[in-house]
Amino acid sequence: MPKTIRPPYSNAVVPPISVSSAYYFRDTEEFRRYKAGELPGGRYGRYDNPSWLQTEAELAQLEGTEEALLFPSGMSAVSNTVAALCKQGDRILYTGCAYRNLRTFFNEQMSQYGVEAHAICQADIQKFNEEFQNQYDERCRIVFVEMPSNPHMYLVDLEYIKTVIDPQRTLLIVDSTFASPINCQPAKFGANLVIHSCTKYLGGHGDLLAGCVCGSAELMDQIRNYRNISGAVVDGFTAFLLSRSIATLNIRMEQLNKTGLEVARSLESHPVVRHVYYTGLASHPHASLASKYLSGHGGVVAFELDCDAEQAVGFVDRLKIPFMGTNFGSHQAMVEQCAEFTYYKLTAQERRDLNISNTLIRYTVGLEKTSDIISDIFNSLKLICSQSQERAPNVKTHSQNVTAAARQMAESRTFGHLS
Ligand code: PLP
Repeated sequence: MPKTIRPPYSNAVVPPISVSSAYYFRDTEEFRRYKAGELPGGRYGRYDNPSWLQTEAELAQLEGTEEALLFPSGMSAVSNTVAALCKQGDRILYTGCAYRNLRTFFNEQMSQYGVEAHAICQADIQKFNEEFQNQYDERCRIVFVEMPSNPHMYLVDLEYIKTVIDPQRTLLIVDSTFASPINCQPAKFGANLVIHSCTKYLGGHGDLLAGCVCGSAELMDQIRNYRNISGAVVDGFTAFLLSRSIATLNIRMEQLNKTGLEVARSLESHPVVRHVYYTGLASHPHASLASKYLSGHGGVVAFELDCDAEQAVGFVDRLKIPFMGTNFGSHQAMVEQCAEFTYYKLTAQERRDLNISNTLIRYTVGLEKTSDIISDIFNSLKLICSQSQERAPNVKTHSQNVTAAARQMAESRTFGHLS
């Protein structure tokens, strides 16, 4: 078999997908020049892949950082980053409403290596700031913030955190998955590292698993060295798919932001919706932080229904558009009753601590028509309305309760048949 010839040209508009597990050199002289940094190229598939480079450059550009690194999942981006940067005796302070597996990683995995982690609930910002100041000490290597949090969209004040921490000792890491780089760029507010589960908005089509970390070249070098050893790498095709998705991120986010906001506003006016958690609404407890840190609010809307748990299950089951499942950020709407689905392994007390009630719904809009989504939701809520009417005839009907703005929408086009 002849040795592979080098590609005859390299000016393709869409770069080729690289699947090679190794890279060759014509002779020792060429390898020596490569080692000296005189020749570009790769050496081995766990260290180098041109398809990563393309996608990593795009991610760094989106987050406004010097570099980025790809990983095979969001959790892998988190675990490799934290493991690369922490040593025995270090401490991690993190937001208490962070992703479930992240909490487990900190408390059950990192603790085995002598790294202590402490969670601080961010539901009440004043209390968070006070506890943060009390808990922060010179052992703190990492402050890990998930912002907005899932599913309540709680934020923190990154600028406040920066005033407390010692920049020589402590790194501020933000998991910005829920915002996407379109709605927030945490590095602008002082984050040293920004992490994404690219499985969500960045991937955008529900067909890939990936993660990334973005930051300075110096930190990326440390994390890359760790990745070379841990072997947490993506294949060239996944890197390509992600790059293909990034090409449409802006326009997808624009649409998801728009639909998310419209759905949140409509839900807020509904009589069996007790509360809507969406940072684009003035009623969100962190609305003022949202105006500082977010330029859009994404496609995930969480809301509490004013009914019992079985009625909430019925609401989810009657919906025609969304898939019942636990992803977000793709073109397909997804829905879950949180207690029954993502949080089913937790005890009732643990769910209460996280403010996950039995009637909390997480609805993730996709690229479906906004009016179809709202009609579907309102149709499914109708039964709960009539059940509440039977139980308490004085409860206002939806049409009595609808706000002026929602009524205007209803009359014009969106859900006129429901009012
Ligand atoms: N970070 C956040 C905020 C998430 O919601 C998730 C997953 O849901 C992750 C990280 C982990 O990402 P992955 O599922 O890609 O490992």
